Amino acid sequence: MKKIVCFLAFSFSLSLFASGDHGHKHGHEKSSSSLGAHVHGELECSIAVDQKEIYLQLKAPAQSLIGFEYRPKTEEEKKKWKTFTDSWKKNLLNSFSMTDIKCEILKPLVLLNVDEKGSHAQIYAEALLRCPKSLQGKTMNVTLRQKFEAIKKIDFDVLPATKPPYKRSISKDLKTLELEL
Ligand SMILES: [Zn+2]
Repeated sequence: MKKIVCFLAFSFSLSLFASGDHGHKHGHEKSSSSLGAHVHGELECSIAVDQKEIYLQLKAPAQSLIGFEYRPKTEEEKKKWKTFTDSWKKNLLNSFSMTDIKCEILKPLVLLNVDEKGSHAQIYAEALLRCPKSLQGKTMNVTLRQKFEAIKKIDFDVLPATKPPYKRSISKDLKTLELEL
């Protein structure tokens, strides 16, 4: 597990760096050439499994999950952000579950990375799950698209316990995805 976490932590710090003072060019059109650009409605999710642990990482345009892309100002926005972060920490937005296994959420983290110049913001969330038994052969149900209507597409990068890594994505009418761990 150590290797995986280090690698992910490294890529995370890289992406933080990339979206730092670099002008966050916002792409409403499809464009992946610019670092830090995002497309509203499109999310990225990585899932790495090792024995009884899952490392989960989610990157999303803030607009797609909380409806605005700046630091919360009004009472309503502050409340919305708090509800969102509390829900990630408590139950991962009620959107990631295993069919017959209940895992403990360790080290949940949620960040709102705001681009002060460009008035766009990215949500970064991660968590480590510790489960009571081996996850080999288990299935994770992701229901994010049922909860957040602004999500149009989610790209998944999955590193299962013993099988080779694979990619999946959900868009259009598909609201739930079952991922083999
Ligand atoms: Zn944006």
